[in-house]
Amino acid sequence: MRRKLERLVDLSPMVAVGGMAGAVALGLAVPAHSQSFGDILGSAKKVAQAATVSDAQIVSYFSQMSVEMDRQNTVATAKNPYAVRLAKLTTGLASYDGLNLNIKAYLANDVNAFAMGDGTVRVYSGLMDKMTDDEVRCVIGHEIGHVKLDHGKKRMKMALQKDAALSVAGTASSGVRRLASSELGGLIGNAINAQHSQAAETAADDYALSFMAAKSYPQPACATAMDKLAALGGGGGIGLLRTHPDPAQRAKRMRAKIK
Ligand SMILES: [Zn+2]
Repeated sequence: MRRKLERLVDLSPMVAVGGMAGAVALGLAVPAHSQSFGDILGSAKKVAQAATVSDAQIVSYFSQMSVEMDRQNTVATAKNPYAVRLAKLTTGLASYDGLNLNIKAYLANDVNAFAMGDGTVRVYSGLMDKMTDDEVRCVIGHEIGHVKLDHGKKRMKMALQKDAALSVAGTASSGVRRLASSELGGLIGNAINAQHSQAAETAADDYALSFMAAKSYPQPACATAMDKLAALGGGGGIGLLRTHPDPAQRAKRMRAKIK
């Protein structure tokens, strides 16, 4: 069953776009996650526990979140035109910078994309409709940048610190717990609603430019991708605009950098 999400997750949205949120688009709903342990003692305890969450646990949580996102969205099957195009434009990207990538398209009318710390990359068909292959590549590069620069991991830790039940779950043992769908929804919501800092977005944009150069893709595509986001205006219903800084400014900065 599908729930409505108010915002998506941009665990690492790209460029400009930032985040993933799209009200419209995602079809994910974030269940309201109540904080059960609100007392001071409990809060102090959960912060201490969250600090001990291991990287392995975080990657496991990302994987579980990816599975949940795929469950709640329509993943383009192999023969779908979006899947075919995405596979073609990401040829040679099975791995990059030490990260094993799992790249798929969501059939959803939002201009959005995200990446998670387990290497999952999802690109919305709504974004593919607006952008050229090279522009889509730049967005993917931006998202990978968030992952490689550990921005998503920081978000995950923040989300765990906000949620007593999850932080406790994460530290119950050195092992990893399988989270319930409702818990994942809360985690996805927290991660998605949090925005990356301006500094993190700038770093992800720079990473995207390096990614383009490393793969011999044209860097100006990053600037034109931003131009397109800027032209979409508003931002209320557009995932990348919701969570990312002003695309016009980003385009300007990247153009200066390319020169
Ligand atoms: Zn971003």
